This record gives sequence, C-alpha cells and structure tokens, in this order.
Amino acid sequence: MEKADVVIIGGGVMGTSTAYHLARLGCQDVVLVEKKQLVSGSTGLSAGGIRLQFSIEANIRISMESLRYFEHFAEEFDTEIDFRQHGYLFLATEPKDWAEFQANVALQQRMGVPVRLLSPQDIGDMAPYLYLDDVLGGTFCPRDGYADPYSVAMGFARQARRLGVSIREETEALDIKVGKGRVRAVVANKGEIATPAVVNVAGAWAAQVGRMVGLELPVVPYRRQVFVTAPFDDLPKQIPMIIDFAPSFYFRREGASILMGMTDQDEPPSFNTNFDLEFLVKVAEKAAHRAPALDRADFMRGWGGLYDVTPDDNPIIGKDIGGVEGFYCAVGFSGHGFMQSPAVGRILAHLITTGQTEHDLSPFRLERFRAEEMTGERRVV
Ligand SMILES: Cc1cc2nc3c(=O)[nH]c(=O)nc-3n(C[C@H](O)[C@H](O)[C@H](O)COP(=O)(O)OP(=O)(O)OC[C@H]3O[C@@H](n4cnc5c(N)ncnc54)[C@H](O)[C@@H]3O)c2cc1C
Repeated sequence: MEKADVVIIGGGVMGTSTAYHLARLGCQDVVLVEKKQLVSGSTGLSAGGIRLQFSIEANIRISMESLRYFEHFAEEFDTEIDFRQHGYLFLATEPKDWAEFQANVALQQRMGVPVRLLSPQDIGDMAPYLYLDDVLGGTFCPRDGYADPYSVAMGFARQARRLGVSIREETEALDIKVGKGRVRAVVANKGEIATPAVVNVAGAWAAQVGRMVGLELPVVPYRRQVFVTAPFDDLPKQIPMIIDFAPSFYFRREGASILMGMTDQDEPPSFNTNFDLEFLVKVAEKAAHRAPALDRADFMRGWGGLYDVTPDDNPIIGKDIGGVEGFYCAVGFSGHGFMQSPAVGRILAHLITTGQTEHDLSPFRLERFRAEEMTGERRVV
C-alpha cells in the first residue's frame, strides 16, 4: 500500500496553503487529494475580501499574520494576485451593531490595527456617493482590501509542488481508516494511502469527511450569491470594500464593474450553487438604497458558492479532533476562510510537525459547542 506522512483532503486555498507550509517545514511526503480540480470549491467563488476587522482577538491575530503574506505574495510566491489595499468600510445602522463596532475598534487598536471610528459626516467625506441618513457610524481600516483567491490558491499549490508535495486532482477521499483511536489510512477512489495524519480542509464538505472518522462536525453548507454589474462609471474608480453590516450587503470595484453580494436570511442549508434572479432583485434594491447611483447599473453575471458555517461562525481548527489521533481540521470559516488561509495553513503545518502553535486556538476547539455559551465571531459578512 502507498504511504504518506500526511494526506490533505481538499484542494481549496486551505489545502494548498497547508501543503505549502508543510513542505516549507521539511515534511517530505505530503499528498493532497482533491475530488474535482484544484480551486473548484468555494475558494474560486469567493469575493476575495481581506480584513483585520474582527471581534475576537484570535481572529484578529490570524488575519494580521495572513495579511503579511498577501502584502508580499507577489515577490514570495512569484504570483500576481491583484491585491488591492483600498480598505474596508463597515457601516452600522443598528444601535447594537454601532455599540459593538466601538468595542471592536478599541480591541483592534490595542492590537495595532490601524482602524478608526467614523461619524456619518466622516463617512460622507470619504464616500460622498453613499446614502447615510440611516447610518449611525462606521469603521475603516486602510490595510484591508481584496485579492484574487484563485491566484492565491494556485500560488500556494505551485510552490507546494515545487517543494515535493504530490497534488492529485480527481481523487476523492471515500473513507478514513481508524484503528485503536488513531487514523491509519485514507481510502480514495484511486487507491488507499496509509498515513498517520489526515487533514480535513474540505470546506463545505467538511462534515462528510468528519463522518469518515465517526464524528458529527457542526459544519453546514449555505449558498451565498455574488453579482457583477456591467462596466459602471458613476462611482469613483477606487472605492473601499463597503459593508452594510445589518443586511450583510457588500460591494467593491471589480475592474470597471461593481461586484456585490448579500446574505439571504431565508436561505436554507444546501449544496445549491445556482444563482437566482429573484434574489438579484433584492440585492439590486439594497445597492440602490446604499449607493443611489447603482440604481442605473446593469447586471452582467452572478454566481452562487458555499459558505461552511458553524453555530458560532468561528471555524474548528486543531489536532486530534474529537479525540481521533492524527485527525486535523480547519473547517467552518463562513465568509472569511480565504483571508485567513495563509496563517491557518501555517498553524496546521506546525501542529502536524511539532504538535504546537503560538496562536490561541481555544475559540476554535470542537468542544466549545458543548459549552452553554460560545463567544463566537460577530464580524461575519
Ligand atoms: C460567495 C462567497 C463569497 C466569499 N467571500 C469571501 C471573502 O470576501 N473573503 C474571504 O476570506 N472568504 C470569502 N468566502 C469564503 C471562502 O471562499 C472560504 O472560506 C474558503 O474558500 C474556504 O477554503 P477551503 O479550502 O476550506 O474550501 P474550498 O475552496 O471549498 O475547498 C475544499 C475542497 O475540498 C474538496 N473536497 C471535498 N470533499 C472531498 C473529498 N471527499 N475528497 C477530496 N476532495 C474533497 C472540494 O472539491 C473543494 O475543492 C466567500 C465564499 C463565498 C461562497
């Protein structure tokens, strides 16, 4: 039977980042299996947003480390990722959100994030094209931005391959053999690989992989839709990523067009990735409300992708998950897995090679779901 030191299940940005970091740490024999093609899952369908603005310290730290990778990706990975550091502007329309924004900014600033609170007037000066009568205030961090997720994942994959990782497309993990409480092998459609370490980075399919070792991971797939306008000149060429927080509506430039998305609060869990015109009408209304010029935009295309969502919107990251030795997970990232992937891949690689990480993973333990209160992440878009 074939053997490997580590088998990674999932060829999205989490899997390719983990593969790269493992190889960088000298792990010799790493196999990544992807059931379709690399980056065919949520990563390639993501809006590419990158931000430091989170509500809990552990997420801010992971994002701070990840941002350093994005800022130097082009040189370090010899890959252009179209990184635009135009900032994230969050808008609060609800008193409870505005109160939380203020607490979040205090924490973020203590940690060195160059974020600031904005009054409606400050926001109007920065973005005069926004309707602000219902806005109580906002937050802006100029180091936030967005990049092309496909290029980032492929940049990790290319370097991982160069360092010796075996990346296998159209290779589906069907089962994981567990014996005496620890993982023994991955059974794939193309054969079995004996291994002491299996990494579940299967995104929206994470619960299926969890079941292979007898665990019910609370990670549920939800469709999220994105729409892109035809080239649109009635907004400035450079705008931040703008987040209307209460309805979870966001928009940014995508070249000459505008890319936008929103959370459909009525969306049931599913693997559906179609885009639907009825929902586009709701998104277009929200867009025209927040930036009235967008009322004149024509829509060119749209798509659906999957968030992998946990009950408290924080991921599950760690080793020996559910007491199964050698079973590693980084799953359940909602809408922020792309931006956190550089650091999370490094964290997993350290856990696998040394058993340790300097990051605080306590908010990401599987066991937290048994506790009565979960802190959770509040800045989820
Ligand atoms: C519309 C949308 C917008 C988003 N916007 C943002 C954003 O602005 N910023 C941000 O940070 N994040 C965003 N996200 C979230 C982000 O895309 C995800 O958190 C991230 O891509 C997760 O990466 P992943 O590698 O874990 O998952 P994926 O990219 O989904 O990769 C998982 C892979 O595992 C494979 N797989 C599954 N089961 C198996 C198996 N049994 N065997 C082999 N392979 C298997 C799948 O085929 C898939 O390719 C967005 C997501 C969506 C849908």
